[in-house]
Amino acid sequence: MVTRHPTKYLGEEYQRLVRENLNWELKVLESASGPTCIVNGKEVIMLCANNYLNLATHPKVVNAMIEATKKYGAGAGSDRSIAGNMALHEELDRRLAKFKNAPASLTFQTGFMANEGTIPQLADRGDLFVSDELNHGSIIDGVRLSHADRAIFKHKDMEDLARVMEEAEKHDPPYKHIWILTDGVFSMDGDLAPLPEIVKIAKEHGAGVYVDDAHGEGVLGEGGRGIVNHFHLGRDEVHVEMGTFSKAFGVIGGHITGSEDLRNFTFNKARSWLLSGAVPPGVAAACIAAIDVLETEPQHVRRVWENRNHLLDGFKDAGFDTGNTETPIIPVMCGKSKKAKDLADYLWSKGIFVLPIFYPMVPREKARIRVQVCAKHTVEQLDKALETFKEGGRNLGII
Ligand code: PMP
Repeated sequence: MVTRHPTKYLGEEYQRLVRENLNWELKVLESASGPTCIVNGKEVIMLCANNYLNLATHPKVVNAMIEATKKYGAGAGSDRSIAGNMALHEELDRRLAKFKNAPASLTFQTGFMANEGTIPQLADRGDLFVSDELNHGSIIDGVRLSHADRAIFKHKDMEDLARVMEEAEKHDPPYKHIWILTDGVFSMDGDLAPLPEIVKIAKEHGAGVYVDDAHGEGVLGEGGRGIVNHFHLGRDEVHVEMGTFSKAFGVIGGHITGSEDLRNFTFNKARSWLLSGAVPPGVAAACIAAIDVLETEPQHVRRVWENRNHLLDGFKDAGFDTGNTETPIIPVMCGKSKKAKDLADYLWSKGIFVLPIFYPMVPREKARIRVQVCAKHTVEQLDKALETFKEGGRNLGII
């Protein structure tokens, strides 16, 4: 009989991660998330949060959460499918659809759960998912939960996508349904999916288009309405626009937006929606308030772009390689993992909090610092960060 130990491998695996420098070291946020924060007891300029519009502390959003919590309680008491579907959840679904100029939305507890719950229901045996190689892990997990076939196309490479689709047409028996899945904004590079071209190819094959706009919402399009609006595409062209309330909206939650059929289909099928508790009423109310803010205070979206442009120009002038960014996510390329880590450590020592990203999240030689700006950073804060980047970059031979 084999000698088995129930849990020894947990510690061994953790030690391996530590040895190979692949473990996460969690930092502790001791203040609200904002342009500056207290992290691990020290005041830092925050340049790696998703709180793009700084709505996490917007008084209207915070008050909405407090008031709804006082009135409706801390929790919804149940899954939405059973007894937890509060009027506030329904209102949030409607308000989001209106904001997105779409027939319907369905909100989830998180964006991860929206992808993981919706995607596997869209395709089954005899169907095909076609996915950009750099898609987010929640899309990858969603695809893995399905019985459908899968194919990958090279990042943003439309010739490769066309080739994959041509190959798919040879499948016998023919695929019943094909879905093309893509991030809208790729979170490691800040570049945009070529959505109009994807739509064109999808149309030629009668395929569905699913876009994850987690980092585009609140940032792209008119008033932050997202990538579908940004490219002026129709709901009959992009069939599922997925998003999150955990980034620019400053709260938490996920959604899918599209047709009434999509909504009705999904809330009857997606297991993460059907079998998990509803978000608290305070969260739903805060998300509604965040939509209100986007509709009535356009300055936040404007400011995040001004800040992004200021920072990007500064990096470029200093000679940093910032990849192909088109959004407030700015990758500062460093080469080897060690350089990215050393630069992040130097920045941290000077009160700048950024995230080093290295293998296996990105290829070995493409380690980088991912910088994310928010609407409330001041020019002085951004300039201080730039100066510190330059010092560190020079010391390490990056520039
Ligand atoms: N998709 C993308 C592209 C993301 O970056 C994230 C968050 N890291 C998610 C989905 C998941 O969103 P949430 O935080 O709402 O679970």
